[in-house]
Amino acid sequence: MSLSSETNLIKHHQFPHILAANPPLYDSSTFPTELIGSEVSYDYARSGHPNREVLEEKIAALENADYGIAYNSGIGAISAVFFLLESGDHLIIPNDVYGGTYRLCTQFLPGLNIEVTTVDTTKPEEVEKAIKENTKLIHIETPSNPLFKVTDIKAIADVAKAHNLLLSVDNTFLTPLSQKPLELGADIVSHSATKFLSGHSDLIAGIVVTNNAEVAEQLRFIQNTLGSGLSAQDSWTLTKHLKTLHVRWNQSVQNTQKIIEFLKTRPEITEVYYPGNDEINKKQAENGGAVLSFRLSDPEKVPEFARALKIPQIAVSLGGIQTIVSHPATMSHASVPEDVRNERGITFDLLRLSVGLEDPDELIADFEAALEETYYEPISTNFERERLSS
Ligand SMILES: *Cc1c(COP(=O)(O)O)cnc(C)c1O
Repeated sequence: MSLSSETNLIKHHQFPHILAANPPLYDSSTFPTELIGSEVSYDYARSGHPNREVLEEKIAALENADYGIAYNSGIGAISAVFFLLESGDHLIIPNDVYGGTYRLCTQFLPGLNIEVTTVDTTKPEEVEKAIKENTKLIHIETPSNPLFKVTDIKAIADVAKAHNLLLSVDNTFLTPLSQKPLELGADIVSHSATKFLSGHSDLIAGIVVTNNAEVAEQLRFIQNTLGSGLSAQDSWTLTKHLKTLHVRWNQSVQNTQKIIEFLKTRPEITEVYYPGNDEINKKQAENGGAVLSFRLSDPEKVPEFARALKIPQIAVSLGGIQTIVSHPATMSHASVPEDVRNERGITFDLLRLSVGLEDPDELIADFEAALEETYYEPISTNFERERLSS
């Protein structure tokens, strides 16, 4: 039968098997069947998609996990974990948990009648004390952000096991290359893949991995039922970015050590926060990662200092190939009430640095110049504005 041009334009050409360096992007929401009623690998992309599956398998392998499930954001991944709970259940989280997780726990879960307690998870005995009859899940983050407190994963896993609870770990800051919580006794690990796993600041994604088949099945049900699976395009992009994770991560961690050494020599920097030398972190992780925080001796100089930096981007987020400076008090933690922020040490003088792949000596020179300019040759704001606009 010869077809009209309209029909021919729509009819899809099926490529024969082609060898290619990268997996193709199947930008399809639906997958036709050859015979009604026959078994198919894929039918509708919300419930399963080849590009998402390739990614899920890769991430699971990275964590030595049996199951990986990809969501449309890190917070989507954490939400899926919390939706393992039912009305009447109780959940324990760190008192310095990631802001988005805190919002989910304080502004959304209570509406579903899920109870949340915040504790200092660096003290396993505090976690144990917070356990109630209806507790089902402990969620931790280590190191925490932005002051890099370290929680002992194995100690908390022992508490969880003793009380028959699930332990979930947000492993965003150290990546599976430096920390594998499942091997330390955690049941569930989540990632904001938006950060180091992607590394290119071009997508938002989340991952959950587990060895627990029942949990994996529920997580997949949640992914399909809530429609929170990662898109084909982002799965495809993230799969490609993962190929360079090792080199990106190792280089960023190495650059971080150099920058810390420099920061510690400067009198204007009163404190550097980095988990690398923490005894518990040394026990459970390969290194301290590629994010640190520091304080300037004069909080009023913070905006000027940040503006004087020529190489880093001043932005929220972390884990990019570019170095990022963020200001927790006005950015990631702005929604935390000021008194709580002050109590936790998230004050105006604090800056967070996510170290990228630029030449570390050039980054150091840039920091040095910005400190000199800010502290010893201050320029008036108006003058600077004129200079920038001319
Ligand atoms: C960014 C981040 C999240 C949230 O991830 P999104 O991809 O932004 O939704 C969760 N936990 C940590 C530790 C993060 O840094």
